[in-house]
Amino acid sequence: MTYNTIRIGSWTVYLLKSGKFGLDGGAMFGSVPKALWERTNPADEANRIELALRHLLIDDGERRILVDTGLGHLWTEKQVRMFRMEQPEHALDGALKEAGFSREQVTDVILTHLHFDHAGGATMADGGEIVTAFPKATYYTQRAQWELANHPSPKDRASFVAENFVPLKRYGQLEILEAGEEIAPGVEILVGNGHTDGHQMVKISGSGETMVFLGDTVPTTTHLRLPFIMGYDLRPLETLEEKKRLLGQAAEEGWWLFFDHDPRVPGVKVKPGEKDVEISERYGGN
Ligand SMILES: [Zn+2]
Repeated sequence: MTYNTIRIGSWTVYLLKSGKFGLDGGAMFGSVPKALWERTNPADEANRIELALRHLLIDDGERRILVDTGLGHLWTEKQVRMFRMEQPEHALDGALKEAGFSREQVTDVILTHLHFDHAGGATMADGGEIVTAFPKATYYTQRAQWELANHPSPKDRASFVAENFVPLKRYGQLEILEAGEEIAPGVEILVGNGHTDGHQMVKISGSGETMVFLGDTVPTTTHLRLPFIMGYDLRPLETLEEKKRLLGQAAEEGWWLFFDHDPRVPGVKVKPGEKDVEISERYGGN
């Protein structure tokens, strides 16, 4: 896997990819008819579309802040097939190594939320035990997300896997936040409740540049259209408002926007368009 970097103020942001998987295209686009999404996101025989697993590593030489951990490896063969998981044996580890880092060097892990495709790599198997995958890091989630993940409703029960996040607390490495906050100079957590309770986007700013890692609020370029909202979302109308506000400001101020699941495009800049916003510039890497 290759990686790219982007400079924001004193931070070097590494754009990492740990693999890909597939989810039902209908669930990914909510009430949007298949005829409108299948041209950009072709479905396989089980109606799954391809999704990437993307991460940031934000480094200033002292702090190394990882955003999201991907699927991890605590999966049965049946689950691997069902979600069409394709990742190298040490997926995120390998991507970090290629960029010149080890798991032990990660100081902070921001989990956009605790769904299995974001928190799966937060823990790992060590002999018969489940341990934290980043032994020196503080992990961040929101109180509302923590409560939900530990007591999910039947709608989102399948998205949360307790062994991905319960050990973080047991090892004393979890910091449960009550709201959005700046966790390092220029690295800010933005909280929304559309996709799921206490979802965290990450905004990095410095030297007049801003980039936002959108998490599952806008998972792919296809979701830049305002009505394209995932069926998984708990509060789609809030997602709509969050997208409107964020994309409007991003268009006005020329922010870089980075996606967690787009299979081809890591990031874009946007401008006001005929419908909602349009892509004005694509990030050059893959
Ligand atoms: Zn996701």
